[in-house]
Amino acid sequence: MDRIAENLASIRGRIAEAARRSGRPAEQIALVGVTKYASAELIRPLIAAGCLDLGESRPQQLWQRAAALADLPVRWHMIGHLQRNKVRRTLPLTTLIHSVDSRRLLAEINKEAGEAAPVPVLLEVNVSGEAAKHGFAPAEIEPLLAELPDFANVSVRGLMCMAGLESGPEEARREFAALGGLRNRLRNACPPNATLDELSMGMSGDFEQAIEEGATIVRIGSALFEGIDD
Ligand SMILES: *Cc1c(COP(=O)(O)O)cnc(C)c1O
Repeated sequence: MDRIAENLASIRGRIAEAARRSGRPAEQIALVGVTKYASAELIRPLIAAGCLDLGESRPQQLWQRAAALADLPVRWHMIGHLQRNKVRRTLPLTTLIHSVDSRRLLAEINKEAGEAAPVPVLLEVNVSGEAAKHGFAPAEIEPLLAELPDFANVSVRGLMCMAGLESGPEEARREFAALGGLRNRLRNACPPNATLDELSMGMSGDFEQAIEEGATIVRIGSALFEGIDD
């Protein structure tokens, strides 16, 4: 399991280098270790190596793993599509929901927030325009920000995107730059329950480009588990 610690150290080094190129300290970039492909036995060594922010893209798997690892100080991130009927059970387990992709989901989170209010979330933006991708169209974000006072139990911390499936790293870079540009343009149009400080973008194949374009959170799965057969 030393390999996981090595992979983590190597990724942290690459994050620090990309942060330096973007003129920011490495501490300003959070790493979410995505465990969706990893078998349960590989997650404890990852946590032991110091990766305490973990992400899952399927709510049921997040619930299961949060329960199995309840003895450890993990901060869970919901990074995939969240169905409205799974909100109630997911909210108390998560530190940040990256993937708010509809008004109806936002309304459901607002309604279920309860003692967790205000619930920190990111708005997922479909920057590549691929029909199969979840997320708001970029043009929908500004009118949505204006409606946020109606969702007072939610705190919008920023934007999230995934690069297009077909996008190579440089095409991905243009998509990340578009998300950063959208954020910069709207940052001063935020109601009190939004800040847009966070940009969650970049995965194993493109996190360096994402950081260079302003990512504050990268979500990395397969690169953490490289070289490990299970
Ligand atoms: C799977 C997944 C990731 C991690 O992908 P890798 O390419 O394995 O790093 C990041 N974000 C989301 C939303 C995912 O579903």
